[in-house]
Amino acid sequence: MESDIARILIHKDEIEARNRALAAEIAATYNGDNVGLTLVPILSGSMIFLADLIRHLPLKMKIALVQVSTYPGTATSPGDPRTVLQLSGDVTGRHVLVVDDILDSGRTLRRVLAMIRERQPRSLRAAVLLRKPSKAPPDVKVDFVGFDIDDLFVVGYGLDFDDLYRNYPHVGVLHPELMP
Ligand code: 5GP
Ligand code: MG
Repeated sequence: MESDIARILIHKDEIEARNRALAAEIAATYNGDNVGLTLVPILSGSMIFLADLIRHLPLKMKIALVQVSTYPGTATSPGDPRTVLQLSGDVTGRHVLVVDDILDSGRTLRRVLAMIRERQPRSLRAAVLLRKPSKAPPDVKVDFVGFDIDDLFVVGYGLDFDDLYRNYPHVGVLHPELMP
């Protein structure tokens, strides 16, 4: 696996430090326990980020999973999101924080936010580990961002290429010959 990665873009230690800071920002925003918080991680890309982030968050929380797929198989450019709008918990009347791995074209987050808004949460915010500012559209607002990155296709720390490399501990760039 390591030999498939051309370079590390963000080292795991840097991610760890940023997660702590993000968790502090999030904790300050929700300000105390018993706020009725539900985190909604978008599967599967956000699972590693979520697992690390929530262990720095000293808040009582529920987790409701949602699954969306925008890069089916080996495609690396966003098609129409193949959206499985299934949410594993009730978010009505709760403070909802959607968690995603990366904000690219914004289509995924736009759909998930719209779906959750219909269920009338008490508040709705979003956190992403990575954002590609050159592509992120102005109408998709995220409240918490780990890192802004260039418009590169990255893998690792939950992010996949053809469902591989999610367990690579850093955020890295694949060797170009491995990409279609
Ligand atoms: P968007 O809908 O914002 O275009 O894309 C969001 C989803 O596409 C992310 O949740 C992620 O699964 C996938 N994606 C976007 N950019 C990248 C990337 O650079 N690397 C990987 N592995 N997935 C990406
Ligand atoms: Mg994905």
